[in-house]
Amino acid sequence: MSSRADIQEIVIDTSFSTLGLSDALLRAVAEQGYTEPTPIQLQAIPPILAGRDLLGAAQTGTGKTAGFTLPMLQRLAAPRDEQPGGKPQVRALILTPTRELAAQVQDSVRTYGKHVKALRSITIFGGVNINPQIAELRRGVDILVATPGRLLDHVQQRTVDLSHVEILVLDEADRMLDMGFIHDMRRVVALLPKERQTLLFSATFSDDIRKLSGAFLRDPVTVEVARRNTPAELVSQVAHPVDRDRKRELLAHLVKSNNWQQVLVFCKTKHGANRLAQQLEKEGIDADAIHGNKSQPARTRALKRFKEGELQVLVATDIAARGLDIEALPHVVNFELPNVSEDYVHRIGRTGRAGESATRSRWSATKTAAAGGPSSG
Ligand code: AMP
Repeated sequence: MSSRADIQEIVIDTSFSTLGLSDALLRAVAEQGYTEPTPIQLQAIPPILAGRDLLGAAQTGTGKTAGFTLPMLQRLAAPRDEQPGGKPQVRALILTPTRELAAQVQDSVRTYGKHVKALRSITIFGGVNINPQIAELRRGVDILVATPGRLLDHVQQRTVDLSHVEILVLDEADRMLDMGFIHDMRRVVALLPKERQTLLFSATFSDDIRKLSGAFLRDPVTVEVARRNTPAELVSQVAHPVDRDRKRELLAHLVKSNNWQQVLVFCKTKHGANRLAQQLEKEGIDADAIHGNKSQPARTRALKRFKEGELQVLVATDIAARGLDIEALPHVVNFELPNVSEDYVHRIGRTGRAGESATRSRWSATKTAAAGGPSSG
């Protein structure tokens, strides 16, 4: 007689515990409520732990930050030689295109590293006073998260020593290229030891990215979780044809009539973003704008209010919004189309994040743009 015990079941274990991460890291992951690794984490964590270089194609929202932070923390927690004076030296350098992304990566380092023995991490980026950063660097730091320009300011002032870096991460490398950081990146990499581990993440694998990978990485493992120009799954897209001069009115109407909360709206220009935020405010919608002309504290404040659900609409330019990690963002509006078609994919990648389903994106366009305006591609 057959019993339950006769029935063989082969369960493929894809849990975090199979990846080779330490208990301290697994605890931090469990505390975040993650039950299973995302595809990029499954593919990237084992080779990074093994010390391999890695070329990762993954958009924001795929869990790539944990994908490199977790194994990086594990490798850094391994015993090392005593540093002169006992002060930590920069052993891991993470370069990001924007301040916001740097701050988010830093948050992840803190979150996932909270049970790992003391590793000091700091963030340095431009647009804020350099002196507190110098003081922080003087105290010693193991993990440095930085934007390229400000990092080079520190190099010039000799306030940072990069000669002990063991792990280099280039996060959103495609964006750093788009933003013209190629020379800065090359200058930084030239200051690092040749013997190091390099991880490069990019939403796309363009020829330029492949060239960069050829120059900076050694025999990398390649992992790819999103095809080029593929909008994130779980995102439904809707276009609203409307005359140009009625777009603001339509947006206000959509937000109000659908009672949309946490709406991220993309504009092309700083001026346009300000104007739209003001108009929405006039219509009684709590809105604010973030872009490069706003001070860092103002940007941080707006983002915090938005993340906490206090601010209904955040109007942003592409650069300001790049890499923002806002969980479960329900609505993205392309108030103006991006100049580069890949930016469209990045923009809507903010909805339909790891573990969230049935999120939506709106695309509001003028008739002229839809009919072949400058950026209808
Ligand atoms: P990222 O692509 O690194 O910006 O991460 C996107 C979001 O996914 C973040 O809010 C993470 O907290 C979340 N996340 C990362 N890994 C997992 C996981 N294994 N399960 C569920 N959510 C995750």
